[in-house]
Amino acid sequence: MPNGTKPALAGQAALVTGGSSGIGAGIVDALAAAGAMVAINYVSRSEDAEAAAQRIEAAGGRAFPVQADVSDEAAVEAMFAKVAERFGRLDILVANSGLQRDAAFTDMTLADWRKVIDVNLTGQFLCCRAAVRRFLAQEERPDLSRARGKIVCMSSVHEVIPWAGHVNYAASKGGVMLMMKSLAQEVAPRRIRVNSISPGAIRTPINRAAWETKEALRSLLTLIPYGRIGETEDVAKAAVWLASDESDYVTGTSLFVDGGMTLYPGFEDNG
Ligand code: NAD
Repeated sequence: MPNGTKPALAGQAALVTGGSSGIGAGIVDALAAAGAMVAINYVSRSEDAEAAAQRIEAAGGRAFPVQADVSDEAAVEAMFAKVAERFGRLDILVANSGLQRDAAFTDMTLADWRKVIDVNLTGQFLCCRAAVRRFLAQEERPDLSRARGKIVCMSSVHEVIPWAGHVNYAASKGGVMLMMKSLAQEVAPRRIRVNSISPGAIRTPINRAAWETKEALRSLLTLIPYGRIGETEDVAKAAVWLASDESDYVTGTSLFVDGGMTLYPGFEDNG
């Protein structure tokens, strides 16, 4: 950063759901490094969120852990109230929480279906709604950001790539895509920007089985033209950009961070 230039997100307040592991943890660190105050949501096991908050505060930043199940309306409302109380405002939501409950379609229970839709889709709805309400209620701060508020939804390449054995997950991410675009259309006139990141294969606990062994990794790499698995930093950099004024004219977009996974690599030598 050149001397005298302030960090891209200086003074802004952010909330990252599912911020205590994987992609969310990477985004928490990147937002803090870009100058934001960060509320780190976790659902269970507070230790990782507490450790991350302490690390950020020790480095001179501001962060705190906040518990909530994003699929629980009352818990989400309470979480946003705590963030407002602590930081006085909210400028950035990264709705990142998500999970998988995989099963062959005929074996998929209603509980498997509901859990994934509740967390991945309804959870994003509840958090986005609370964020938009907050953006509209609070004082505008054009000195902090050109937009009144910014939302980054965490989608997946499976918002467009069908995924056998994961029908609930693909349906939830397809839902996130059109929720995000419809919401972006609705709130753009209020100068609120809403975008998604659609990661390909990123090395995190959610997909450990896909990269843990050499054979699994080799098979995974046949799906990735760029020839490497993604790291959480790859997604975190995109999140900082989407949250910053550098992307001020970008709204309603799914930004694919996937090493080309959505380029139909199976057709590479088949033309
Ligand atoms: P992860 O399992 O480390 O992260 C998921 C986070 O969501 C965890 O911190 C978990 O505690 C949290 N969570 C689960 N249920 C919750 C609930 N009810 N309330 C609040 N938080 C809850 O895995 P990850 O890979 O970092 O996943 C983060 C997001 O990225 C997810 O939405 C996932 O679908 C998406 N994604 C990941 C990949 C990948 O390759 N890793 C690819 C595409 C999309």
